[in-house]
Amino acid sequence: MGAFEQLVLKVLPLVPNPVMRPLAMRYVAGERLEQALAKLRELAFVGHPGIIDILGEDVESADQARRVLDEYRRAADGVREAGLDAYVSVKPTHFGLRLGSDLALGLYRQLAAHCRDLGNFLRVEMEDHTTTDATLGVFEALRAEFDNVGLVLQSRLLRTPADIAALAPGPLSVRMVKGIYLEPAAIAHTEPEPIRDAYFETVRALFERGAYVSLATHDEVLAGRVLALVEELGLGTDRYEFQVLLGVREPLWAQWREAGHPVRVYVPFGPEWRPYSLRRLTRNPQILRHVIRATLGLD
Ligand code: FAD
Repeated sequence: MGAFEQLVLKVLPLVPNPVMRPLAMRYVAGERLEQALAKLRELAFVGHPGIIDILGEDVESADQARRVLDEYRRAADGVREAGLDAYVSVKPTHFGLRLGSDLALGLYRQLAAHCRDLGNFLRVEMEDHTTTDATLGVFEALRAEFDNVGLVLQSRLLRTPADIAALAPGPLSVRMVKGIYLEPAAIAHTEPEPIRDAYFETVRALFERGAYVSLATHDEVLAGRVLALVEELGLGTDRYEFQVLLGVREPLWAQWREAGHPVRVYVPFGPEWRPYSLRRLTRNPQILRHVIRATLGLD
């Protein structure tokens, strides 16, 4: 990390909300569900389906986790009432995974059933490596019961190819990401090229086992390699889509959309935008670099 980034990182916690808010709001729809629905409507108008995420993680009590479930139910209902093509995506520790897998599984189950009744989908997100085993366990238990659930896998982790091989047979929907959490070298690729190569290989493995793959990346070089693979395997848009983060590299979305590739936009919202943004920036300084460049108009 450069000296400027180190300085920004030190100063960020002291930055008052009126200054921080406009920086964060490029990447966050707002604090309220209505703002997220308005953003999803705007995106739908130009041809982008969406994903709705309520900001937050690491709840401290089962009651708090149950309140998160209520918020997600409301979000899924709001999407349905607005007639939008958007689904919900939930971090395991927001549903209390660190307090117990059973608690998280119970809440995912209730949300999956609710989404199924609405004809909608639910994605289980992936957090740092200390949660991977429990998250895979929760997902496999859900998948045995529901067909409207999907998972996230991280190419950064060395274990991911083995995790794919170990998933039970049957229909599978995976969002493939590089992984936002910086992980120790003993268990993860740490350099950009190996992370990219691993991404490409995991996508190939997923396609070969018949999975639907959400290609969640803004890396156009990697996307080019994956699209060449899509062509080589003769796959249609019933097998893949791109997924992008709100506010990140919009010209790339347009390029993909105009070439006929579906591009689904991840729309986070919620009152916890500030701790979420700070934690993200502190955990992975690469994101800080992107934000500084984007804010200065260099991206
Ligand atoms: P990079 O090489 O990091 O980025 C490519 C280019 O995109 C950069 O040069 C930069 O210009 C731009 N860019 C990337 N990120 C940002 C940013 N935040 N702000 C500004 N510019 C940026 N990770 C998980 O670990 N678990 C998850 O559940 C998860 N879900 C995700 C869902 C979606 C829809 C997306 C798009 C990402 C998700 N991620 C998740 C994050 C992912 O792991 C990466 O950290 C992130 O996508 C950046 O990697 P990249 O593939 O875009 O490549």
